[in-house]
Amino acid sequence: MSLVVAKFGGTSVADYVAMGRCADIVLANSATRLVVVSASSGVTNLLVELAQPGVTESQRLAVLKKIAAIQYAIVDRLPRSDDVAATIDTLLTRVDVLSQQLLQQTDKALIDELLSLGERCSSVLFAAVLREKGAIARAFDVRQVLRTDSNFGKAEPQIADIRHLSQAQLQPLLKQQLLVTQGFIGADAQGQTTTLGRGGSDYSAALLAEALDADAVEIWTDVAGIYTTDPRLAPNARPIPEISFNEAAEMATFGAKVLHPATILPAVRQQIQVFVGSSKEPEKGGTWIRHQVENPPVYRAVALRRDQTLLNLHSLQMLHAQGFLAETFATLARHKISVDLITTSEVNVSLTLDKTGSESSGQGLLTEALLQELSQHCRVRVEDKLALIAIIGNRIASTPGICQQVFGVLAPHNVRLICQGASPHNLCVLVHEAEAAAVVAALHQALFECTSEAA
Ligand code: ADP
Ligand code: ASP
Ligand code: MG
Repeated sequence: MSLVVAKFGGTSVADYVAMGRCADIVLANSATRLVVVSASSGVTNLLVELAQPGVTESQRLAVLKKIAAIQYAIVDRLPRSDDVAATIDTLLTRVDVLSQQLLQQTDKALIDELLSLGERCSSVLFAAVLREKGAIARAFDVRQVLRTDSNFGKAEPQIADIRHLSQAQLQPLLKQQLLVTQGFIGADAQGQTTTLGRGGSDYSAALLAEALDADAVEIWTDVAGIYTTDPRLAPNARPIPEISFNEAAEMATFGAKVLHPATILPAVRQQIQVFVGSSKEPEKGGTWIRHQVENPPVYRAVALRRDQTLLNLHSLQMLHAQGFLAETFATLARHKISVDLITTSEVNVSLTLDKTGSESSGQGLLTEALLQELSQHCRVRVEDKLALIAIIGNRIASTPGICQQVFGVLAPHNVRLICQGASPHNLCVLVHEAEAAAVVAALHQALFECTSEAA
């Protein structure tokens, strides 16, 4: 029996009408047996607001009201005979209780439980919408199978456990009914709720597809596939019909929000095809991500990652010496920081910190403790308000003429850092945040709107 896992993002399950469109997509393909949903649009952001330190009681109540309004607007459209209202009441009461507890104490486990409630509400509601359309469907608590470590806020999935648990507990149920489960959340070995980091529902869908040996994962969102750049930044961006795992992984890593950066990993491990399409306009088709594609172009896409931090480290110890970088990286690793771009000179190292897939609660990476530890062996200067722009493609490091073309476009801008050569798939530059949108538009125009090399 073939199996497709379909994931619907926040805007796709924003309200009753949007959920209805998604239910039609699910029911149009009998192979779609498992549905993974995000929280309705805006709900996770509201839950994150509740988790911030210093929230006042009146702010808390206002946010609770907004969340309840989004969820009850859907409940109110469902037939009364389907008693989901009581379940939503219980889940919203939990939001109330947890957010009250968080006024007294910051606790990462409590925050993750709070953040999980958006997905838990939308899975209950989506299953009810499917039932209204005549399907045999119910919500399934993903925490029974999506085992993670206990790193709250950015938990690490335990692949072998997820496989074992999914095959034992999820697989048999899928034969009898459609299951709607939650993206973004999991549970550790003690049963405590965890989250995978913002945007993590794509990753959840890919992990479950891997565990169940599914044939395909469908990521239904608000754009008709992966585009040559974010269509919000360049009106002439166009969808890419087919793209390789490598290219898609680079795009996701370098900021193409349409896919969570880790989504491709499980798909690569099991060679599962991934489709990205629009739940509003499914007839437009979308992008297929496959192991190999024919004639991959030199330029595939331009990606943008905002809000980047550059760490400049200066130390005379580096001069003709060994071990400085090892020490620096060991410190960063101890603080669970993943380094992104890096350039070095004789006595300086500049590096950017990878914030993608950062903590669900939006907590910053640069802590006082890290800066203090680094300061013990070098002088540290931090620059922010930067943006990373990546030109993604193939054979980038071995095709003559690329730098001339790219640097020609960059001529009017101040480029803070350049990384090229490590990967055949990207050329990255760091620019000031204020110039980022203009640089992306100019690069897209030069590389995709007036050359024959375009995707
Ligand atoms: P969802 O809630 O469905 O997970 P997201 O907001 O996370 O949706 O991702 C979809 C958004 O990703 C689009 O609205 C678009 O603005 C953005 N995006 C960024 N880069 C790209 C790209 N290269 N192609 C398509 N969309 C992109
Ligand atoms: N609801 C979560 C978020 O907003 C996960 C997701 O949508 O993928 O980050
Ligand atoms: Mg997303």
